[in-house]
Amino acid sequence: MNLSPSAAPRPVSIAALGECMLELQGQAFGNLRQTFGGDTLNTAVYLARCGGAGLKVHYATALGDDSLSAGLLERWAAEGVQTGLVQRLPGRLPGLYLIELDEGGERRFHYWRGQAAARAYFDTATTALEEQADALDALYLSGISLAILPQAGRERTLALMTRMRAAGKVVAFDNNYRPRLWDSAADARYWYGRAFAASTVALITADDHQALHGLADLDGAVAAAQALPVAEIAIKRGALPTRVGLDHVWQDVPTEPVPRVVDTTAAGDSFGAGYLSQRLGGTAPAAAAAFGNRLAARVIQHPGALIPREAMQDLVGA
Ligand code: ADP
Repeated sequence: MNLSPSAAPRPVSIAALGECMLELQGQAFGNLRQTFGGDTLNTAVYLARCGGAGLKVHYATALGDDSLSAGLLERWAAEGVQTGLVQRLPGRLPGLYLIELDEGGERRFHYWRGQAAARAYFDTATTALEEQADALDALYLSGISLAILPQAGRERTLALMTRMRAAGKVVAFDNNYRPRLWDSAADARYWYGRAFAASTVALITADDHQALHGLADLDGAVAAAQALPVAEIAIKRGALPTRVGLDHVWQDVPTEPVPRVVDTTAAGDSFGAGYLSQRLGGTAPAAAAAFGNRLAARVIQHPGALIPREAMQDLVGA
């Protein structure tokens, strides 16, 4: 007999797959501030903040066995992100980028990520993510997650997406597109096409869809995104209303007015987290998009990808 009438339901679980890099920020040969960043990690952290006890968020990536990798793991865990799916690869290191601030405050990005551990996530015969996929409810990844992997890793990722989708799970793909991570736009289009076909939710930044397909204008990109073969689609258009569709029923959801945009880093990542956390909790698409818009509007009023938790406390509760 169950004597505890309020036994908590099993939390919904989601794994985000991708790469988080070390971030240095400052002037060349000046003092550098050290932190970390990456699109899917940003989403994982915001998912953990939004989902509370009802959502278990894992981050799947590879790191080294060095102290910087250990420091990343500690920080992710402190954010409530589960690290059991992380592979530690002896001798490898996390990727690194420098945001160089020039005298006028302009930012230039420099990357050292070619040898990053995350690229080797699937270099072993099996991974914790593939082994534990049956126990997950959802998978989240982006175009950057695919871009950094070698071909075999991309194939393993697509096989996992296909398997989870067939098992009735949520498979969400964010179209974040960084042209220089790909051999060519045609190569990227090939893998994106396969990723969309294996997804149940597409999170689309209209600008990135336009760039990927070389479309002349944003309206054309939005129309093309609406025609993607994915049952559920959320199209992000900066300050313009977010367009969400489930089974071809479309709604435009206004964004929140923002008096002063401070830093748009992680706008799309936080939108995706807000949207997915609500959808996984059973909220309908338009209300989920309204929440995503509220969270993203908050994030862009603060510097950096991860804003202080206190700055969004009113949105997510205790
Ligand atoms: P990305 O960060 O992926 O490039 P967008 O620039 O389209 O994506 O922005 C993502 C989300 O952030 C939007 O859907 C919206 O919710 C919010 N957002 C972005 N810019 C603004 C803005 N100027 N005012 C209000 N909300 C914004």
